Amino acid sequence: MLWTKSHIPTLKEVPQDAEIASHQLMLRAGLIRRLGSGLYTFLPLGFRALRKVEAIVRDEMDRAGALEVLMPAMHPREIWDRSGRYESLKNVMFRIKDRQDRELVLGPTHEEIITDLVAREINSYKQLPCNFYQIQTKFRDEIRPRFGLMRGKEFIMKDAYSFDVSSEAADESYAKMYQAYVNIFRRCGLHAMPVDADTGDMGGSSSHEFMVPSDSGEDAILEADDGSYAANLERAEGYCDLPNEFPGSENPLEEVATPNVGKIEDVAAFLNVEKRQLVKTILYLADEKPVAVLLPGDREINEIKLGKVLKAATLEPADPETIRKTTGAEVGFAGPVGLNIPLIADRTLEGLRGGVIGANKTDAHLRNFDLARDSAINEFHDIACAKAGDLAPNRKGRFIEKRGVEVGHVFKLGTKYSVALGANFLDENGKSHPMVMGCYGIGVSRTLQAIIEQSHDENGIIWPASVAPYTVLITVLNPKDEASMNEATQLADTLEAQGVDVLVDDRKERPGFKFKDADLLGFPLRVTIGERGLAKGIVELKPRTASEFSEVPVQQAAETVLDAVRELREGLK
Ligand code: ATP
Ligand code: MG
Repeated sequence: MLWTKSHIPTLKEVPQDAEIASHQLMLRAGLIRRLGSGLYTFLPLGFRALRKVEAIVRDEMDRAGALEVLMPAMHPREIWDRSGRYESLKNVMFRIKDRQDRELVLGPTHEEIITDLVAREINSYKQLPCNFYQIQTKFRDEIRPRFGLMRGKEFIMKDAYSFDVSSEAADESYAKMYQAYVNIFRRCGLHAMPVDADTGDMGGSSSHEFMVPSDSGEDAILEADDGSYAANLERAEGYCDLPNEFPGSENPLEEVATPNVGKIEDVAAFLNVEKRQLVKTILYLADEKPVAVLLPGDREINEIKLGKVLKAATLEPADPETIRKTTGAEVGFAGPVGLNIPLIADRTLEGLRGGVIGANKTDAHLRNFDLARDSAINEFHDIACAKAGDLAPNRKGRFIEKRGVEVGHVFKLGTKYSVALGANFLDENGKSHPMVMGCYGIGVSRTLQAIIEQSHDENGIIWPASVAPYTVLITVLNPKDEASMNEATQLADTLEAQGVDVLVDDRKERPGFKFKDADLLGFPLRVTIGERGLAKGIVELKPRTASEFSEVPVQQAAETVLDAVRELREGLK
């Protein structure tokens, strides 16, 4: 392919609205263009790369025995009512009406649609297990679409759904998909680590996210430094082994004036104590009734964990009015002593002595709090976010915190959707059971950008050979020189005949300008053909990752490039 016949609009300037490197590079290299918030066009080069990622995903899904289908992106509302998610997903769902005023949904995901299909198509144990997947556009009304393809309102997802006769059989389907994901990301040249994840709104029992470590990632991950465990911060279970006894623990509770000092940081500074020594008392409304949640002052509440402990249908932080009424004090001075509502304590508070608590009185705290002595709390739960420094579940490794981009997610779903949508099968004895499901998503467009986020330098993209829009770039220094162009065309033809895609830079631009673009575009191998070199009988070869060119005799150019391509591909198998 000739550069002058492709549309590759590279930009010199760093686009104003792009905050992270991969987003800037995708715009600068002419891979995507923005239409509106969270909406992007794939230009020819970007689309080529996307198709390569899709091909890898497809290949691994097929190998794992999943069958490709394509479901509608638009769904009647009723099917979402059957699972209750028309309501629970209302904040992310795009909802529309047709000319007859019928309500429709633009699919944010497809559990309901596939389960309804399978309920109609499959009814015997003999037809199970089965697994269907598709690669398709999803729609989500994200709160903050940003970072280009990382978080779009519209994005391309591969979603697969498995159906099994039993939980054990479903575990096998899950394991197969998990392995397929490991293969996919390896073949994409992407380092993606599986981490334990929460099952959130999906129902079901266990799940893993595949995270690409990156400072720009929107997810926090805690990883044990001995490699024994990694989990999404929302999910991570850590153990704090710091002593829980502080100075003053022998003394009785004592009120101290803390005028206008209600925030944890301020109280700690004012009383000159560690944040950890304070007890945060947060009021929630669980099913509209107030409960007080107690945490060490240096920890954040984990509402997912709290929700599981409380098992309430609704859970929200209490409003200031409720806080005033319940504690008799302004916000910032709540504490466990003398509070007549249920108290839920985080397990790190067990054994606390010498703590500082709110006095349920404006501008006052109590110190020397001994939890066992001064309160009736005797139940402790894991309701706080774990953090760096905590012990991992094996009580040996310690957590370090990383940020990551979630590129894939595998879930064991159980029977939530099969029960709601009637996906049952008859066993050997003619008895009916709900199918046991799993679901498996990959953000294909996000994966593409994550590859760039992980693989670039100050000059541009460094494409892994498996997903590069072209594998080889031939830069012709002077395209007016017929001999140079002939040599380039011949080399390109030979390589293409061997299944290597080639772009020939035939632009009438200065060599320096073309080299800059070559680095920006970041194809794995670059061949430079110039009059002076040809006179010596050589062309120059440079992998994107090397700093120097090597000279290759013209007659051996094709063979040398093919060897180099083979080597790159071998490394990504
Ligand atoms: P996130 O936590 O990032 O919002 P999610 O957990 O809601 O993602 P899933 O429902 O698990 O996402 O979707 C499967 C995959 O789709 C994700 O792992 C991610 O790679 C991708 N994805 C989800 N939302 C978006 C989006 N708005 N833009 C691009 N890709 C997305
Ligand atoms: Mg997810």
